[in-house]
Amino acid sequence: MNLDRTIKSINQCVRCGSCRALCPVFEQSGWESANTRGRIMIMKGLTCGLLPDSQVLDSLNSCTTCGLCTENCPAGINPPEMIESARRELVLQGKMTAQEADLSKNIFASGNTFADSRDRLSWLKERSLPPKKADYVYFVGCMNSYRYTDTAARTFSILRRFGATVLPDEQCCGSPLLRTGFDAQRFMDENCRQIEDTGAQTVITGCAGCYTTLKKNYPRNFHVQSVPEFLAERVSELDLLPLDLTVTYHDPCHLGRHNKVYEQPRQVIEAICRLKEMQTNRKDARCCGGGGGVRAGYRDLSLQMARRRLNEAPKDADFIVTACPLCIRNLRDGGGGAKVIDLVDLVAMAMR
Ligand code: SF4
Ligand code: SF4
Repeated sequence: MNLDRTIKSINQCVRCGSCRALCPVFEQSGWESANTRGRIMIMKGLTCGLLPDSQVLDSLNSCTTCGLCTENCPAGINPPEMIESARRELVLQGKMTAQEADLSKNIFASGNTFADSRDRLSWLKERSLPPKKADYVYFVGCMNSYRYTDTAARTFSILRRFGATVLPDEQCCGSPLLRTGFDAQRFMDENCRQIEDTGAQTVITGCAGCYTTLKKNYPRNFHVQSVPEFLAERVSELDLLPLDLTVTYHDPCHLGRHNKVYEQPRQVIEAICRLKEMQTNRKDARCCGGGGGVRAGYRDLSLQMARRRLNEAPKDADFIVTACPLCIRNLRDGGGGAKVIDLVDLVAMAMR
């Protein structure tokens, strides 16, 4: 297997196992092949002729790309990046799980992760409203376009006050494809073309997966902001009513560890109500279990991780607030139910 770019990192791993104790997948499964160090050993094996059988695929594809290992690796390597690169090599060889094959087929056929043929902007009641030219583009993402349409509508009703528009034919940002090893150029090119047409210099998204992808995988022709960053800068202009609530905040991996957006969502929450931290938070926050294609491919494992994360919430919290629709879905399904809400939903409650 050609893993040239990652061989240096594989050799830099000193097998210390600091990552082993932290990997949320290992916490659930207990298999060495399901922790960071084991995955690195398997990648080394692949470079030496190990055949990518189903156990190898399970090892590499059960990583949520949470980045807890990166944060704590004394050798300074980035295991999720290495794992994504190994997944790319495997996909190039036609080796993938059935769930990955289905997911990619759906996206290539429909432009969204759900193979949903409905109008992506169905949540937008006044279709003539979004201007063609604008300073900001609200990039909605597949989850909020099709599953959490109320959150999409609430987000846009805030952002349009500041001059935002939406893309006329937004496509999946490409994150699920890129994270699982597929090529997403076609979708990135199409989204870029539409962003350019609006003349906007800034793209704002409420999805942590879209955020990482727009920021790190797209050409740097525009500034990318998460909704919490945008709201934190304008919190004094939002005319928020204080609420008698205690909430906690779950750091989405792709907003927190991957992009260091820790304080802005907390600033917005503290402008509204009391914030009580989860047992692990910021760079140490446990993963919800839903990322990296794990929810699609290993549902039980993913929900076990969600339950473990939910156990870290303060018992007296009225809501578990987060800033990623994938975290919301996994934490709700893991038992959090309606207690798990988007930061924008909290802001909407506090708007006069
Ligand atoms: S913490 Fe880093 S160096 Fe240690 S085993 Fe894990 S990946 Fe290797
Ligand atoms: S990114 Fe997270 S799930 Fe993947 S190997 Fe590292 S700690 Fe484990």
